[in-house]
Amino acid sequence: MADDSFAFFSQTVQDPWKAAKEWKEKTGGAVIGWLPADVPEELIMAAGALPVAIVGSGGTINLADAHLQVWACSFARSGLELALRGDLSFLDGVVIPQTCDTTRTLYGIWRHCFPGRWVEVYLLPRQVERPSAAAYLREELLRLKAALEKLTGREITPTGLARAWELNASCRRLLGRLYDWHAAHPEAFSSEDLYTIIRAATLVPKEDLLPRLQGLVAALGVTEVSQAELAAAGMGRGKQRVFLSGSLAAPADIFSLFEEAGLTVVGDDLHLGYRYLFPAEPAGEDPLGWIIARQLHLPPTGYLNPVGVDRRHYLLEALKRRGAKGLVFLHLRFCEPENYDYYDLNQALAQAGVPALRLETDFQGTSLGQIATRLEAFAEMLGGGIDA
Ligand code: SF4
Repeated sequence: MADDSFAFFSQTVQDPWKAAKEWKEKTGGAVIGWLPADVPEELIMAAGALPVAIVGSGGTINLADAHLQVWACSFARSGLELALRGDLSFLDGVVIPQTCDTTRTLYGIWRHCFPGRWVEVYLLPRQVERPSAAAYLREELLRLKAALEKLTGREITPTGLARAWELNASCRRLLGRLYDWHAAHPEAFSSEDLYTIIRAATLVPKEDLLPRLQGLVAALGVTEVSQAELAAAGMGRGKQRVFLSGSLAAPADIFSLFEEAGLTVVGDDLHLGYRYLFPAEPAGEDPLGWIIARQLHLPPTGYLNPVGVDRRHYLLEALKRRGAKGLVFLHLRFCEPENYDYYDLNQALAQAGVPALRLETDFQGTSLGQIATRLEAFAEMLGGGIDA
């Protein structure tokens, strides 16, 4: 994207910890790293701390191999590698959500590798359709709240939490607008740009993010996109429109391959995609209840299904809603939750006549040439590449 307003986002992603280090130096506040997904940033913000999402880089994984088996996903291994290398030494604490067996193990390893350093697990409810899920989650959030208060020495009040929610929700709304604008007007900016903006949003203080997003939205002339506009965009010519399904997109430059193959990403269920910017309206007076309601109604993913939602139906409807012609499973190698879901999801897509492609990637060592070829073939199958 040529617009100057975008430079802030691309520069942030290129130097991911810079903003957090500067913020810490300026404010003296605590910086809390969190592993995607679903950690409630509002709780961290209301404790006067800065939440920063930890996602590994494509560098060599070496030190982490002494602790995590090579058949653990590269997201967990590369995150641990960053910490062992000392890249995350500026963090005052880390929250690890329990999304799967790997993160459960990672929490124990983290404690072992960094004794005396603040690390908390975030235990998400599994059976979210049960009435007890909300009560359980409340207790879990209260436990995390108490731990954060102890670390920062600052009480998390309902007013502070509501303020943090509102700031976060304003950012999510603008991210959602950009997300929809890209799907309706793919020529405005690339899929790679969109996911750069979302990643940057997880790295900077929300007070700084909000005006940056407002500036970008204004510069691009972004307005609300109607469902009819989205559907009409789906019928237009040009790049082929695809939906992404998976946990995390890796390596970071994979989105450029979609663009080069003539594919536009118009929707996703990725942890640092739609799941991160999923909007939620607060109901009632209790901000902790807002976090609970949002968590229990997040879109389905490999490790969690929201109340009364079947991921197969969700994906088919989401594809239709976003005007996507096909689906690309973007699976991290050894991501068990996504692997478990794959067979059923693929069957459902096949029965509905939706073309699908499965790519297995890694934070390191993915053969981009091979992926580029497969994406080009998929674009052709959908009706042509960039010039169709
Ligand atoms: S959900 Fe998948 S990507 Fe995330 S930590 Fe577990 S195995 Fe890795």
